[in-house]
Amino acid sequence: MNCPKCNADLVKKYYKGMIEVDSCPNCRGMWLDFNELDKLEDVVFDDDTHKGSLVHFQSNTNFPCPQCGSGLEEFQYRLYDLKLDYCAENSHGFWLDAGEDERVMTFMRQRAADIQRKVDAETTWKQTLKEMHLFLVKKKK
Ligand SMILES: [Zn+2]
Ligand SMILES: [Zn+2]
Repeated sequence: MNCPKCNADLVKKYYKGMIEVDSCPNCRGMWLDFNELDKLEDVVFDDDTHKGSLVHFQSNTNFPCPQCGSGLEEFQYRLYDLKLDYCAENSHGFWLDAGEDERVMTFMRQRAADIQRKVDAETTWKQTLKEMHLFLVKKKK
């Protein structure tokens, strides 16, 4: 598979001990496929993360899905002011640009500090991934 952004060959990598992702050695972005995301089933949701409409659809892009080549659609994950691309055509997965996952982690750590609660950033990140996954799967049906 090739990187949708720079066309380099994607390399399999185990992400934070959770799931396998296809990462780009050139631009450092990564592709999270939906089958891998299904493995995050054990995740228990934090009630706070479920309030309101968290995902807004934005627009089509010219970036091709690494699995089917159809144009990725960009959406915005409101809680973290994060823009992601996903395969709208066949729900293959979604793309994170370099550093976007770290931005989410930083944001979550700040938020945990604000509400004075101890939150494991990796667990919360897992919840975030799972939530986006569920949302996109639901939209598809
Ligand atoms: Zn790339
Ligand atoms: Zn696709």
